[in-house]
Amino acid sequence: MGKKIIVAGLGHGGIAAAAQLASAGFDVTVFEQKKEGTLGYDWTDIFAPNSLSAAGIPMPPEDKFTYKEDMTFFGPSERTGLKQHVPQDQLEIKMERKDIYDHLIKHALSCSVKIVYDCKVNGPIVLGSRVVGISTEKGDFYGDLVIDSCGMNSPLRMNLPDSFGIQKNAERDEKITIFRAFYNLGSDEETDDKFKIILFKDGKLGISWVASEQDYTDVLIGRFEDVDIEEVKRFTDLLRETNPRIGTEIVRGGQFVDIPVRQPLSMLVADGYAAIGDSAFMTVPLIGSGMANCFKASKCLADAVIGDTRCLYNCETLWPYQYSFFKTLGAGLAPLAAAKSFLLSLTPDEADYAFDSGMITEDNITIGADFTSASSINTDLLDIINKAKIVCKNPTLLKKLPAVGANIAKAIGACSVIPRKYSPDRVRLWKSMYEKAF
Ligand SMILES: Cc1cc2nc3c(=O)[nH]c(=O)nc-3n(C[C@H](O)[C@H](O)[C@H](O)COP(=O)(O)OP(=O)(O)OC[C@H]3O[C@@H](n4cnc5c(N)ncnc54)[C@H](O)[C@@H]3O)c2cc1C
Repeated sequence: MGKKIIVAGLGHGGIAAAAQLASAGFDVTVFEQKKEGTLGYDWTDIFAPNSLSAAGIPMPPEDKFTYKEDMTFFGPSERTGLKQHVPQDQLEIKMERKDIYDHLIKHALSCSVKIVYDCKVNGPIVLGSRVVGISTEKGDFYGDLVIDSCGMNSPLRMNLPDSFGIQKNAERDEKITIFRAFYNLGSDEETDDKFKIILFKDGKLGISWVASEQDYTDVLIGRFEDVDIEEVKRFTDLLRETNPRIGTEIVRGGQFVDIPVRQPLSMLVADGYAAIGDSAFMTVPLIGSGMANCFKASKCLADAVIGDTRCLYNCETLWPYQYSFFKTLGAGLAPLAAAKSFLLSLTPDEADYAFDSGMITEDNITIGADFTSASSINTDLLDIINKAKIVCKNPTLLKKLPAVGANIAKAIGACSVIPRKYSPDRVRLWKSMYEKAF
């Protein structure tokens, strides 16, 4: 039997890495707090299908997904809509979250992954400077490597010793609180913009979406502050004024969930430990999508573990995971985190101005559609800022643009000099440079 790997939490990156590692002969067990058959949310999600093949996962059956509509982005006033024109070969797919999980789990089981359900992980078991296992409500379990796939509020990451240098919590402006529900149809009026994304509606720091489906309207309300059901009711009434397809009855969903929207962790690995997915803050900071990145990151992680022929699974031998993650994905996510901080600094009037004045264009809105190339995202982002400086006539906004350009450049710069090989001193220096970019 191969070396023992524990995956804590049945997150998307964890289960994808588990399948690759079990296929390579490792003895992999996933510990999940929920009961079998209860994973996921009661709503659909969108992600780039090529990310599945990157992780060696087959495409789901064709009757389980459809292709996502192009999104139209609006400023707070909803005056100007900028529509994506995503090329056919980059279209994302839309699938029920429960079907995504079924597909991933079926694949993992076929690769001989073992899953223990209904088992809450309480924290890591640390011996000296190494994670050697997990403590759970069903007892302690030991392994040669623990993969942390417990999501944003991972009890593993949050209970690691400070000496590991791994950030424990996301700050309030680094996570977005989401309410999402499907409403019955309030009207069957057709709309040209089937998938509307609205920034800072009603002057609130956040993002909302209204997606018109045949039988229901999908509403998402995201805020960089705590939000309760009374506020959701008030805000949905406001959305209804310009979006009459939103009915008054919730037919599915209706839950609050937090999503990290910040740069990835500066340290993904420790001796005996690697974080993936939301545990490592791998979502696209401007929009909060994380699934495709999980699948792609799982390949980086599995390659590093399989490549560790001495079976040490320590900082040094897991570093190739961090290196390849940052080269392929992190280098694109980090500048988007800087761009997100800029967006949060805008007033609603400035946000409207950016839409109305042509500072942001439909091409700009389209670039993030398929997050495949970190280098093209970087070039595009700097290009957007440079063009915005020329178009912008709003003096206060104009003053903010050089700072965002500099922050994006710092984030790109930090990612480009990540050390290829692990050495404690070089990694400490790099980590501090990366963290200072935000
Ligand atoms: C409303 C909403 C809409 C979204 N839409 C999209 C979308 O359309 N496209 C997209 O790409 N992304 C989307 N995301 C983001 C996406 O869900 C995540 O980025 C992605 O799932 C990666 O997270 P994860 O799998 O690492 O963690 P999670 O999804 O949080 O999974 C963590 C797993 O670990 C388990 N767990 C947690 N704690 C413990 C514990 N103590 N013990 C044992 N098990 C534990 C959980 O039960 C869960 O199964 C959305 C998120 C939300 C909230």
